[in-house]
Amino acid sequence: MTTWHDKAAEVKADGRAFIGGERVWAKSEQQFENLSPIDGRKLGMVARCDSVDVDIAVAAARAAFEDGRWARKSPAQRKRVLVKFADLMQKHGQELALLETLDMGKPIKYSQSVDVNSAANCIRWYGEAIDKIYDEIAPTAANSLALITREAVGVVAAIVPWNYPMLMAAWKIGPALAAGNSVVLKPSEKSPLTALRLAEIALEAGVPPGVFNVLPGFGHEAGAALALHMDVDCIGFTGSTRIGKQIMQMAGQSNLKRAWTELGGKSANIVCADCPDLDAAVEASIGSIYFNQGESCNAPSRLFVEESIKDRFLEKALALVPNFAPGDPLDDNTVMGAIVDATQLKTVMGYIEAGHADGARLLAGGKQARTETGGYYVEPTIFDQVNSGMTIAREEIFGPVLSVLSFTDVQDAVKQANATPYGLHAAVWTADLSKAIQTSRALRAGTVHVNQYDGDDITVPFGGYKQSGNGRDKSLHAFDKYTELKTTWIQVG
Ligand code: NAD
Repeated sequence: MTTWHDKAAEVKADGRAFIGGERVWAKSEQQFENLSPIDGRKLGMVARCDSVDVDIAVAAARAAFEDGRWARKSPAQRKRVLVKFADLMQKHGQELALLETLDMGKPIKYSQSVDVNSAANCIRWYGEAIDKIYDEIAPTAANSLALITREAVGVVAAIVPWNYPMLMAAWKIGPALAAGNSVVLKPSEKSPLTALRLAEIALEAGVPPGVFNVLPGFGHEAGAALALHMDVDCIGFTGSTRIGKQIMQMAGQSNLKRAWTELGGKSANIVCADCPDLDAAVEASIGSIYFNQGESCNAPSRLFVEESIKDRFLEKALALVPNFAPGDPLDDNTVMGAIVDATQLKTVMGYIEAGHADGARLLAGGKQARTETGGYYVEPTIFDQVNSGMTIAREEIFGPVLSVLSFTDVQDAVKQANATPYGLHAAVWTADLSKAIQTSRALRAGTVHVNQYDGDDITVPFGGYKQSGNGRDKSLHAFDKYTELKTTWIQVG
């Protein structure tokens, strides 16, 4: 039987950029190495694109937009192409899943069931939606007609992170392409492979050359050049809050391009003593913090448990932790894989040291694992006796580290939950309907879960309050980011 390892040995990682429908190296001929976090194996070389390549890609996107080869197709025509694009993604699902796992270390099981499926579903959903949206006629005076129409913004730059490389790309290109824009996508330098392959698949599906371009490269080079570019009309950024602030500045200091940011999080998960199903709360809390190695913007990394049930909660939680021991990402049974690279591993281990130094009590994990593989793995880790002043309660760790805090008064828990610059996700577990509603209203977060944590669907918006960003991905609201509203007055006589 062919294993994922056999298939991995045959993978040829193509790191060339994709501009105007063609695979090309950077003009400077500069390249960088792409290493797999699974075992440190070199997957290949990647084009190190810079401002010269950005100029070429933006010009290709602009030309494609202006001549209408995509923007002036009817919504129904764009829909047909995007639905085919999604079908082809699923046809090439195994290959895409393998590339994703090799490139960023997540378990192959989730690359297939979550990343490929959700990314394809996203492209299909926006394709299907675009011919069902109607423009409006304003109720103006009888002798005039005022049409309110949505038009594509033009050239959209999309910059995405490495934790869900394909899915974050899909959340941008789905609505942007459906609305008729041309796109230049910059994937993270840590995981560029699936985005590059997506561009080939889009071309095969009928997205015309120049409409969807992908430039791999570093943030301070290709990324900054896109954010500063005078001919980019809109930038959709997903990444850290630190870089998100720079993106807003660069957009402002160049051509005031529309800038949408989806940023970091430090999500609070509040479990009250009257939680309706303690086992479900434990399973969701533990499963969600360790999903994707804790490398999720919405990971519930601050767990607030009511004092009276804390011991029982932690006993149940500790019993589940061994199920999340890191394993070989290419094994179908593995649920926690490798940390994306050596730098991120160092960051996570640094936070574990900070937890010790601040006096938190280590309950589980705390060490590197599978070091003999040459890859980067961290044990599922829990710190108890954390308080809101500690570094591990304040900063986004982006690794499999859970900080446990306790409370006796839910209002105080909410106050602590809100005492962060972030506002992405939050949760409350209680059987009391009024408490659930009051708490979810009081939590300053873009998404609040009640008695669950993993609710997710392309139909609902995803984004943050405060320094977790200023836009919303997913749902029909995402079209607001990639369209302009135009009013046309017509004299009726
Ligand atoms: P990052 O900010 O370091 O990088 C994100 C992207 O920006 C990468 O493509 C990078 O190359 C690019 N970049 C870096 N410096 C740049 C610069 N000066 N100019 C332009 N582009 C630049 O983030 P990361 O480490 O790749 O991703 C992790 C972060 O992403 C976490 O904070 C996580 O919470 C966040 N995230 C947020 C969401 C969301 O929807 N809110 C989703 C996923 C990840």
